[in-house]
Amino acid sequence: MARQLVEHQLGDIRLIGFSVAGEETVIAAPELNACFDVGKAPAEILAVDHVLLSHGHMDHSAGLAYYFSQRNFIGITPGCVLTPRALADPIRDLLRVWGAIEGHVSPAKIVPLEPGDSYELRRGLQARTFAPNHGVPALGFCLVEVRRKLKPELSDRTGPELVELKKQGIEIEYTVEIPLVAYPGDTAEGAWSELDMVRKAKVLLLECTFFDPTHVRRARAGYHMHIRDIARLLRDLENEHVVLTHMTRRTAIRDAKQVLRKMVDEATLSRVKFLMDGRRYRPRRGLPGPPEDTPMRGGRAP
Ligand SMILES: [Zn+2]
Ligand SMILES: [Zn+2]
Repeated sequence: MARQLVEHQLGDIRLIGFSVAGEETVIAAPELNACFDVGKAPAEILAVDHVLLSHGHMDHSAGLAYYFSQRNFIGITPGCVLTPRALADPIRDLLRVWGAIEGHVSPAKIVPLEPGDSYELRRGLQARTFAPNHGVPALGFCLVEVRRKLKPELSDRTGPELVELKKQGIEIEYTVEIPLVAYPGDTAEGAWSELDMVRKAKVLLLECTFFDPTHVRRARAGYHMHIRDIARLLRDLENEHVVLTHMTRRTAIRDAKQVLRKMVDEATLSRVKFLMDGRRYRPRRGLPGPPEDTPMRGGRAP
């Protein structure tokens, strides 16, 4: 049986996903046409054109081949994965092997990236990468809205005057960048948390694998975050929303809230959400949904 995805509406950013450590992490921002990781590939995220793969651990990457194959089956454009460079060849190999098993290779766009790269998802929306701290090849991502705006000192000029200035080679616009959603993936503490795009993103998706006070060493050993690390980080983070992901099944959300409540003040607490505490996701008309909403166009049988 399919597990229940959850949904959050955080300002104008909508997230749909599921995240349990060791099982599956998949978090889509459908209106931004991006999905962070694809632990398994639920039907609800197939219409999203870009998978931003943080690292190769199975709970984040196992749905990749299925995602490409299903998109081919329902007759939409090949999916695109932004991946740590070291994983690009293994992903190609994986698709080749699946091709041998399935009888045809699913078309896929594979984009290898390094920390510090930028990839345009669409005009005015970029995926920027950074280095998390997880002990394996990994990328963090931030979706950044990039807008061109008229310089304020030119706001009283007429259209023809602005055209004239442009003709003279004068720069009449400037660039505004708004970090929307940041996702370090699985990570321990590190320099990534000092990056502006992480600290100031409207929404920060932050893993929190360990809550038990006796598990600090386990968190360090596995390059994961402990709730103590989160509480400390929250003091410096300016995000409107911090969404905690990648919890284990041994921690009940109610207990996790109690633990956090003892560590941070009310104002900070009000900015923190638990991903799996979201409302049950139900697809709506007119928005990317599962394949039954998508007309079949002669894709190959799976
Ligand atoms: Zn994981
Ligand atoms: Zn991992």
